[in-house]
Amino acid sequence: MTHQVLVTDKVELSGLYPLVDDDGFAITSVDDSSTAEFSSALAVADALILRSATRVTREMLTGAPQLRAVGRAGVGVDNVDIPAATEAGVAVFNAPGGNTIAAAELTMGLLISAARNIPAADASLRAGRWERAGFKGVEMRGKTLGLIGAGRIGGEVAVRCMAFGMDVVIYDPYLSAERAAELGAELVDLEGVLQRADFISIHVPLTEETRGICGADLLSRIKSTAYVVNASRGGVVDEHALAAALHSGQIAGAALDVFEEEPLPDDSPVRDAPNLVLTPHLGASTHEAQIGVATEVAEKIKDLFATGDVSGAINAGDLAQ
Ligand code: NAD
Repeated sequence: MTHQVLVTDKVELSGLYPLVDDDGFAITSVDDSSTAEFSSALAVADALILRSATRVTREMLTGAPQLRAVGRAGVGVDNVDIPAATEAGVAVFNAPGGNTIAAAELTMGLLISAARNIPAADASLRAGRWERAGFKGVEMRGKTLGLIGAGRIGGEVAVRCMAFGMDVVIYDPYLSAERAAELGAELVDLEGVLQRADFISIHVPLTEETRGICGADLLSRIKSTAYVVNASRGGVVDEHALAAALHSGQIAGAALDVFEEEPLPDDSPVRDAPNLVLTPHLGASTHEAQIGVATEVAEKIKDLFATGDVSGAINAGDLAQ
């Protein structure tokens, strides 16, 4: 029996070799999930592999009667209605490890870009100017990095910032003191991060608890010389509050890779905020990461059809009931 696997959102096909090389699977690739071609392929699909552009809704699942698995080639599954998938008996897998380094390295790029005004200096030079005084930056060595969330990506950022000679403090209510010590960092409460950090980098999932965590209140409690970087999930940072804090000089600078609404709307308050570096959700956009996350979900889906094993699924506990 051949299992039909529908792939969308430009998932890196070369990473799907565990399925491509197996006669038991037939791959159909339709990049645009708003098309009729996608809907007809979904109607006969046993598995769907996607990135973040396609939303798996309750309504979409009704058009996929054979579906047994959704594989998110990446970490965040906020584009998948997990309760609806569970009710439909669909296992939801993600690929938490495959893009960790890509996201950590982008975060380093954002930290350095913000600290040294690299994008603004580049734009100025290209506009025909030779301005140096306006772009005086700050060094990272000897400064304190405050991490809000220090799982896979935050941990890698900690290691890299230490190599830059930074001290690292972490606020993460779910992280053990042993893990923080292993990283060579200090576990503190949120206030400890806000008071001590010269650079704050956020690496949390988007949950009810973290939505808007970086809002007007938090921004008013950090150093006026501090920089804030968010390459985790849009919605974690209140963009109106951040833009206001940058316009008023309440904080030194910031960098965002992720936004409440993506693509970023034309009238977003962050578009013209000063001292702000913006990238269009590039955290996982490396060749290595895109292959890595595709392979990770492909292997999980292959296992599901070979053994019925759903233990690696995000909704494994609820599916079993
Ligand atoms: P992870 O699950 O390994 O780590 C998340 C950490 O956040 C955990 O240690 C958890 O304890 C902590 N946390 C949860 N709630 C918290 C709270 N209220 N306060 C403080 N800490 C809290 O996840 P990860 O792989 O490190 O990914 C982190 C984030 O980065 C996720 O939102 C993920 O979707 C996002 N991400 C973005 C990109 C990108 O393209 N920019 C790429 C990959 C991942």
